[in-house]
Amino acid sequence: MAEACGAAPVVVALDGPAASGKSTVGLAVARELGFAFVETGKLYRALAWKALREGVAPDDGPALAALFREVVVEYRLADAGPQILVDGEDVTAELAAAEVAEAASALSAFPEVREVLLPLQRRLARPPGVVVEGRDIGTVVFPEAPFKFFLEASLAERARRRAGDFAALGQDVTPAEVEEDLARRDGRDLSREAAPLRRAEDAVVVDTTDLTFEEVVRAIVERVRAGTGSNRE
Ligand code: C5P
Repeated sequence: MAEACGAAPVVVALDGPAASGKSTVGLAVARELGFAFVETGKLYRALAWKALREGVAPDDGPALAALFREVVVEYRLADAGPQILVDGEDVTAELAAAEVAEAASALSAFPEVREVLLPLQRRLARPPGVVVEGRDIGTVVFPEAPFKFFLEASLAERARRRAGDFAALGQDVTPAEVEEDLARRDGRDLSREAAPLRRAEDAVVVDTTDLTFEEVVRAIVERVRAGTGSNRE
């Protein structure tokens, strides 16, 4: 594996259920460590955007596989946040839509869809290091990562936080609606056969329910700096 030789990039894998804080925590951790930050969910959302654009149902595995055979997804790292291109078109701003999130959740269950994104995710690792967040980073994408964290928080707490995000955007969604949406997406991620959401055996669990954002970031950064960011040692 390319990552294993020379000036190998240090990979910090950050997995967990929807709205467990991976994106905000991951970005802050990456900044503290001087690492790049990759949100792999955006890649699934990019494919979802493509499927919606082409009118392909997100639960039609063979049609998706045919559609994605030729698709070119680019993930450009930039200080202001990543830029995602699908066949040369910048779709970054469109990936936050609820419709795209729902389609991404559905199509990510297909192994042939996940395979399309695997090499791309691995290529995004670069020296000195990268924080990669997703659902299967510590188990499938970077199983050899020296640092693995699994963020957890109760469903109610995650729904409360996500409802707050929507409110800040001026969108009126009740915590009950958010909770239902999160539970449905988690259910799919947990129950699928291909790369289900699960903690890697050597990942450190960080339950964020009763921790502040700063405490979560500090806990992870300190472990990486001390070289104790996995349960392997
Ligand atoms: O994290 P985010 O909500 O952007 O991810 C969108 C969807 O992509 C998730 O609901 C999940 O089903 C899927 N996903 C995945 N594996 C990843 C990242 C995201 O299956 N590594």
